[in-house]
Amino acid sequence: MFLKRIEMQGFKSFADKTVIQFDHDITGIVGPNGCGKSNINDAIRWVLGEQSTKSLRSGSSMSDIIFAGSQERKPVNLAKVTLVFDNTAHVFDSPFEEIEITRQLSRANNEAGYFINKTPCRLKDISDLVMDTGLGKDSLNIITQGNISSFADAKPEERRLLFEEAAGVAKYKKRKQISLHK
Ligand code: ATP
Ligand code: MG
Repeated sequence: MFLKRIEMQGFKSFADKTVIQFDHDITGIVGPNGCGKSNINDAIRWVLGEQSTKSLRSGSSMSDIIFAGSQERKPVNLAKVTLVFDNTAHVFDSPFEEIEITRQLSRANNEAGYFINKTPCRLKDISDLVMDTGLGKDSLNIITQGNISSFADAKPEERRLLFEEAAGVAKYKKRKQISLHK
């Protein structure tokens, strides 16, 4: 299993430290409406660099993803999510056999935000690390409820972009664009 574990604390509805271990080829997450299933998906995309609060289904400020309190619990001041990947097959261009990517955000926003294997880094370092794996925040590894119908309804040119992403062509187009504008 490539993604081995997710650890969340203070992210959206996960006030307490919550660890989800992916030990099997397929993991189903079930629960009543509003229990936090989609928040797990948001947590993954957040760590991979999602900056759109709309896409994270949150308020207008990024700090709205921090646990805001409930009837029983006070709000917390820090949201922290870590994804732990198995890198024994070296899918990530890194000598480490395990890669931990962490993003955190405090209300005061006075702490480092991104870490790779516990070392503070920039968001760009995370983007660079995941770019070649097809894991990026906009990649097709995460198919949300609306994706299927928007794919079916898409115009041919829009559908072509999705095929290019899936075929791995998109990243070369992005690199070409960046080098042309340097
Ligand atoms: P459904 O089955 O309807 O799709 P779900 O299990 O996917 O439900 P989510 O959308 O993941 O549910 O979770 C929504 C819950 O997360 C809501 O109860 C909402 O109040 C809570 N929530 C979201 N952001 C925060 C936050 N910052 N602080 C506290 N709770 C939050
Ligand atoms: Mg949901």
